[in-house]
Amino acid sequence: MSAQSSAVSKSAETYDVVVVGAGFGGMYMLHRLRGQGFSVRVYEQGGGVGGTWYWNRYPGARCDVESMQYSYSFSEELQQEWDWSERYAPQPEILRYANHVADRFDLRPHIQFDTAVQACAFDERNNIWSVTTSDGKKVNAKFVVLATGCLSNARKPDIKGLEGFKGPVYHTGNWPHEEVDFTGLRVGIIGTGSSGIQSVPVIAEQAKHLTVFQRTPNYSIPARNAPLTDEERKRFRDNYPAIRRFAREVAKNGIYTEQPDRGALDDGDNERRAKYEARWERGGLTFMSVYNNLGLDKAANDTAAGFVREKIGETVRDKATAKLLQPTTYPIGTKRICVDTDYFETFNRANVTLIDIKTNPIEEILPEAVRTGGKDHEIDALVLATGFDAMTGSVARIDIRGRGGQTLNQKWAEGPKTYLGLMSAGFPNLFLITGPGSPSVLSNMIVSIEQHVDWITDCVSYMRDRGFEAMEAEPAAEEKWVAHVNEVAHTTLYPQANSWYMGANIPGKPRIFMPYIGGVGPYRQICNEVAAKGYDGFAMTPLRQRLSAAAAS
Ligand SMILES: Cc1cc2nc3c(=O)[nH]c(=O)nc-3n(C[C@H](O)[C@H](O)[C@H](O)COP(=O)(O)OP(=O)(O)OC[C@H]3O[C@@H](n4cnc5c(N)ncnc54)[C@H](O)[C@@H]3O)c2cc1C
Repeated sequence: MSAQSSAVSKSAETYDVVVVGAGFGGMYMLHRLRGQGFSVRVYEQGGGVGGTWYWNRYPGARCDVESMQYSYSFSEELQQEWDWSERYAPQPEILRYANHVADRFDLRPHIQFDTAVQACAFDERNNIWSVTTSDGKKVNAKFVVLATGCLSNARKPDIKGLEGFKGPVYHTGNWPHEEVDFTGLRVGIIGTGSSGIQSVPVIAEQAKHLTVFQRTPNYSIPARNAPLTDEERKRFRDNYPAIRRFAREVAKNGIYTEQPDRGALDDGDNERRAKYEARWERGGLTFMSVYNNLGLDKAANDTAAGFVREKIGETVRDKATAKLLQPTTYPIGTKRICVDTDYFETFNRANVTLIDIKTNPIEEILPEAVRTGGKDHEIDALVLATGFDAMTGSVARIDIRGRGGQTLNQKWAEGPKTYLGLMSAGFPNLFLITGPGSPSVLSNMIVSIEQHVDWITDCVSYMRDRGFEAMEAEPAAEEKWVAHVNEVAHTTLYPQANSWYMGANIPGKPRIFMPYIGGVGPYRQICNEVAAKGYDGFAMTPLRQRLSAAAAS
């Protein structure tokens, strides 16, 4: 498509900003932009706000960053007044919170639900985006913000016979709104990532029999979930300024926890074991923060991985099952570490069977069974806990055309390329929230979302105040950033795992380590410095320049 043919319709409604998605990213983006006086339209393909928490309604779904931290920090009143019930809130409560935020900050009138953005085309002559939506309409926008989510494009596996299965098939990432009752049913679940690990214990309690199909075992740490006491809530609330500052500026992953000052091999066996035991008892993601080199040094990592394998061995009574559940092929933490409630214990139940589909891949799904290794496992209902086309999947579904009609998918054919995870060269005035090349999924995502939203808000306000109408990542700055992201990733153990961070769960997807592993604190500092230098590495087009170019032509 030429720049000419993507010219915008003059009669279409025009907004300062179109935001795609009404999860935590899109909601906060809307709130900030409205506060600065911009006209904003949000499109959300779902029927309500909340994004992840609107779609992922599977049994056992809950956050794995503690709720007192997995929550917005932008409003002191909100964080003081909202009462989280448990250390890790369950999905319905997080969804209630999202709805509360939408009402409290009067966001709904600016959101059009049940409407997907299908295409965005940039008109170079007028520096404006034309946005096409699934209701057949087009609107114009000076800026587009993709708040489409990193884990929002549920991945349905391509398995022979799946369409012919007679019973119901559910995807954890697109779960029905009405309650699903597995009582008396033989249920199969494919996938043992975070969603599988959360849902297996709950489904097992209900189902007559549960067959778990596992390709790769995962390291999982007990959540030790429990109701929050008033004292615990108060402790956070009283210290929120310091806690939030720490999460933003000091912690690598946006989580307030102790910063280790020692490596795993600096301690003797007994001392190390005692520390791992203490963290195991405390539970949760911060298990990986016992030492400062677990993500960097394989020998150090082996000590933590070995400890978790031992715990699995002690918990699961059947030795063959325990062995299958013990991860051995990648370092601990290099795939997103899971947090569970009684996951490994569940395999001691008489009504649960584990099937290894690494050795015996699923050959076919029959109308009433899953066939692996020539054996048919009969089931009445099937759950796909097969994850997402992460980080780029939802962006790729939109037909985005930038300068010269180039599509973003063409540009990203060899892997996503961005400057700071915020913009991609050739696509002016198009921002990504928690895009590839930013800390994103390696962090407490609300911390990263708030940082990106604040940066984008400051940036478009700066442009408005100084009469700039287009902004674009410079190719050289982008190349340098992509190389830096890659270089930092390769100083760690992360690229050693076939993870969704690498796109490895999607056949044909380029293998590139997508998130920025340098840490949220250093990353924030880099973004702030770029802004302080007048958006270094971004080219700005002043309004005058276009007007005089138009007059000359
Ligand atoms: C089960 C689960 C548990 C998680 N737990 C944690 C946790 O404990 N801690 C943590 O930090 N992170 C967690 N995450 C990651 C989570 O995705 C983020 O924390 C956060 O909710 C992302 O918010 P978002 O607004 O960026 O994206 P999302 O919440 O994914 O919202 C994006 C929205 O965009 C919409 N959308 C996409 N494409 C289009 C389109 N073309 N047109 C219109 N609308 C569109 C989608 O429908 C979706 O509603 C979890 C993820 C999952 C799946």
